[in-house]
Parts: sequence; C-alpha cells; structure tokens
Amino acid sequence: MIIYGSRMYFQKNAVQSYGECGHCGRYAKQKSYQARKFGHIYFIPLIPAGPTSQVLNECSACNMGSHIPLDQCGPMVESLRENFKDWIIKIQDGETEVVPEPGASPVNIGVMIAGTVESLFCLGEIKDVDSIVEILDGSGLEFEKYIVLGRWNELRGDLPAAVTHYRSAAQKRPDDGVGWYQTAKAESLRSNAAGAEEAYNRYLQLHPDDIGVVAELANLYEAHKNHPKVVESYDRLYAMNSDLLANKQMKKVYKKACKKSQVEGQFLKQM
Ligand SMILES: [Zn+2]
Repeated sequence: MIIYGSRMYFQKNAVQSYGECGHCGRYAKQKSYQARKFGHIYFIPLIPAGPTSQVLNECSACNMGSHIPLDQCGPMVESLRENFKDWIIKIQDGETEVVPEPGASPVNIGVMIAGTVESLFCLGEIKDVDSIVEILDGSGLEFEKYIVLGRWNELRGDLPAAVTHYRSAAQKRPDDGVGWYQTAKAESLRSNAAGAEEAYNRYLQLHPDDIGVVAELANLYEAHKNHPKVVESYDRLYAMNSDLLANKQMKKVYKKACKKSQVEGQFLKQM
C-alpha cells in the first residue's frame, strides 16, 4: 500500500502552549506554526495543496487546529498589536476598563489582556508576560495582574499555578464573577471537583441566571458521578428553561441520576 495524503510541511515559528481544544475539548499540548500544505507520498512533499498558513492551536490529542492563510493573518496580528498598545497606554493613564466595540459594555482591562495573551503568544508576538505584569503591578492593578498570570500559567500547562493566581484575583475582588469563574474552570481542568464546585457556586451566587454556568456545574457533577447533585442541577436548568425538558440526551442523564441517587427530581413526573 502506498501511503499518500497531505500534511503541513516546512514548519516555521513553532510555539507550544496548552489549552482546551476547540474540536475534541481536551486540555492538551498544542502547537502553533506557519507552514504550507503539500500532497505527499510516503511523507515526501510533492505538490503544494494550499497557501502558506498560520496554524493556531493544533491539538496533540486530535491533530486539529485552525488554519489561517498568511495574507489574512497579517491584518489580524496588526489589530491585536494595536489593541494591545492601546490598553497599555490606558493602564498608564489609570484606566481599568475598555469598551471592546462601540455600544458594548465595558470590560476589565486585565480580562481583555488575558484574552489576547494566547493569540499573541501563539503568533510569536510575545515570549512571556513579564513586562505586562510589571506594568500592571506598577499601576497597582493587582486583580488584573492575577487574571493575566492565571491565564498565562493555564497556557503554559501549569494548572496549579493558574488556580493560585485566579484564586488571588477572586479574593482581591470577591464581588466580581470573573475570578471565581476562572478558578472554577482551572480547578475543573485539573480534576479538582471540590475546588471547582465551590468556585462555581461563588460565581452563581453573583450571577444566578447564568444558565451556561449552571450547565457547566451539572457537567462537572455528571463527570464525577455525583448523582444527587446532577438531579439538583438539572432541576435548576429545567426551572430556568422548560424547553430543555424536550432534550433527549438530558432526559437520559436526569432519569439515570434520579434512579442512582433515589432522589425524585422535581420534573421526573413530566418525563
Ligand atoms: Zn483536540
């Protein structure tokens, strides 16, 4: 059998990071690089099969990543760089919020920076967050500093450190949901169910109507086979949106959890 197909050749500017894969959902090692797709026989590149592309976050578990043609990548990098510069100037002017687009609600500047750090790092625009952290520290923006450091450590695959920083952010500003939510996500990624549960609940005390986060908490309970809590959180989801009662997959999980826990869910009779 002749082995043929296509793959990315002549890789340049490779950067390794860790993250949740957009395709398989696993938190795994990822690679970002520039390369060109070639048809190959026995892995000898033969025919160019596409333009040179920037590959972002190629997952080591499922091999999927985002491919952006290099000519489209330039403007993207340019606007990332511009935004970033803008935010640094704002911080130095004592501002802590930015409006991401006209008409949108203002977002904390640390959260915006944390959201950009991954792209900047994977595109080779920054090597670390040392100078950003120094600027935040010098401006007395501790919450922002911890959010950026949390994100950075998540990106580097150091989940215990990420949790420590996110927890510091949450303690710095306990009435802001961001710190608790990020703590919950990072705790969940490192399979600390108790830590994730506590942080999710702190977040939900502040934002009880956030149905997406109630669903995340329900998934956490399901993954850790905490049947009574699966029933409780599904009851909460059904009460929030009765359309969910029609979802077959959810129904299956709910019925099973009621049976295993011997708790009669509030909606069991309607199934
Ligand atoms: Zn994957």
